[in-house]
Amino acid sequence: MLKKIAFILGSLIAPLGAHAQHKAPPPPKSLRLYVFDCGSLDISDPERFRFKKEELATTNLSVACFLIVHPKGTLMWDVGAVPDSALKPGEKSALEGYATITETLKSQMEKIGYEPSDIEYLAFSHYHYDHIANANQFAGATWLARKIERDAMFAAKPPDKVNPANYSALKNSQTILIPTDDYDVFGDGTVVMKLAPGHTPGHQVLFLKLAKTGPVVLSGDLYHYPEERKLKRVPTFETDQQQTVETREKVEAFLKQSGAELWIQHDYAANAKLKKAPQFYE
Ligand SMILES: [Zn+2]
Repeated sequence: MLKKIAFILGSLIAPLGAHAQHKAPPPPKSLRLYVFDCGSLDISDPERFRFKKEELATTNLSVACFLIVHPKGTLMWDVGAVPDSALKPGEKSALEGYATITETLKSQMEKIGYEPSDIEYLAFSHYHYDHIANANQFAGATWLARKIERDAMFAAKPPDKVNPANYSALKNSQTILIPTDDYDVFGDGTVVMKLAPGHTPGHQVLFLKLAKTGPVVLSGDLYHYPEERKLKRVPTFETDQQQTVETREKVEAFLKQSGAELWIQHDYAANAKLKKAPQFYE
């Protein structure tokens, strides 16, 4: 009987033991930013962004996911447009709606030694489907959320352009509802989420103070195409277009004052030039 119990316990513990052997990489001495290729969006109707095809260098948009590794912890910023589960073993790509991926986020993370369960904090620029597809994999992280976004995501009738099945597990995640426009994630001013509403009610951008690269702001969807910034066009589907205009002015002023470079997350050409994990910015 005892032997039998020991055997059952052993078989229960073995898989846990195997998992416990995984260790996240040791924290670096200074801030790091990893960029993952989370696919692309094939936009056939740029009119939604108030552009004619011929006004754009390309109608394609990139999708990037970011891992910020700070000496005090880790933060995932935006987690893709297509859930990893859509990419079946042996298939070269997976397509969902406008979006295509060719490699899972999980496998890209594993190549640098991280599992989704290692990640301490999770944050999104906003709730649209193309930023949240792998949210459920990070349900063990602490979600840094804007209340107005979280409320909309779990409302009886969620907003357009969200896919509740892909983030349902966050309902029970440990969550910090951010009380201030600026939120300094690690308390030293190097990783700061900044409220930038208009595209969605609680849209935000991420300021990163990288020692060698210099300061950077990850745009969320403040702009999609670089031509939006140049020609000051505002997409048709903002929750508040006037607010977007005002937010853009504020962020542009912040960029000037801080000397930070804006990385437009969906900018296809700019994204193609970024170093991808396992390389990193520091
Ligand atoms: Zn987007």
